Amino acid sequence: MEKVVIIGSGCAGLTAAIYTARASLEPLVLTGAMPGGLLTTTSIVENYPGFAKGIDGTELMMEMQQQAERFGARIQFGSAVDAIDFSGSPLKLTVDGNEVETQTVVIASGAGHRHLGLESEAKLEKKGVTYCATCDGALPMFRDQPLVVVGGGDSACEEATYLTRFASNVYLVHRRDELRASKIMAERTLTHEKIEPVWNSEVTEVLDAGQDKVTGVKVRNNQTGDESTLDCAGLFIAIGHVPNTQLFRGVIDMDDAGYILPKRGQETNVAGVFVAGDCSDHVYRQAVTAAGQGCAAAIEAERYLASLDQ
Ligand code: NAP
Repeated sequence: MEKVVIIGSGCAGLTAAIYTARASLEPLVLTGAMPGGLLTTTSIVENYPGFAKGIDGTELMMEMQQQAERFGARIQFGSAVDAIDFSGSPLKLTVDGNEVETQTVVIASGAGHRHLGLESEAKLEKKGVTYCATCDGALPMFRDQPLVVVGGGDSACEEATYLTRFASNVYLVHRRDELRASKIMAERTLTHEKIEPVWNSEVTEVLDAGQDKVTGVKVRNNQTGDESTLDCAGLFIAIGHVPNTQLFRGVIDMDDAGYILPKRGQETNVAGVFVAGDCSDHVYRQAVTAAGQGCAAAIEAERYLASLDQ
């Protein structure tokens, strides 16, 4: 039987792995489909303490993984949890079709990209519609072309700024007339000569002109009702995230949006199950807070295991 199974391998999951591994609990980390989590889709991380010049997101996550492995964490790549049974002790997980029994679980399953929900968006995904500038921005189809970014947060600003390396120009379409992003990111974005904000506007359709690739987007001004078309080769959607918690619905307490509700010390309503990171935090959502929560979850899991031995 496992002592600790960690679901997810982003900042929260790998920090929980470092701490539980150093406590000689030999945690099993199930990476899921995206080892390293969302941070691997970021270019430079400028606000993780300890890196004065910033650090590449993938590099940061690889360092964390190696740090966890150095102390005995076992990383199972690509492994996803198909089902859970938290009705008794031990806790049971079905992982890639096999049953795994464990005394504790740390849920650090993170969050995925929110979609606009347009039919044309789904149809043209990977044909010019994308949710990750770092992953796709350098593709030949986007080089020296006009591109559209949707959103007004830090992600949208980061994507728009990153895309200026490749695009002829970038339209930043936002549904309000001010950005939600932090001041430094907003300023960097709005003063960039290649970025043009399109305020109070919503993308209502992605256009392909019968070519099976993005050729433009239809935009509606929500103040005037006016519709216009922006010609572009790519639509980069950066409108926030949805927590990856569907598997735990009905078992672990969560809010209406699906964010797990932690109690004191990252505990959940199920004994032995702890939570950390973006799957439970819609307020801070930073790499460093996710790491902090992963640390707290690991320490509480360790204390819980010690209490079982008494
Ligand atoms: P976010 O802060 O939640 O911003 C989402 C943006 O998308 C908002 O501007 C929102 O508009 C807009 N939006 C939401 N749903 C929409 C819809 N259906 N249609 C059109 N627009 C929609 O998400 P985020 O930018 O991904 O950032 C998430 C967290 O990560 C934040 O805490 C952020 O600080 C952090 N982050 C930090 C960095 C960094 O520091 N380097 C980089 C990336 C992300 P409204 O403004 O009108 O609500």
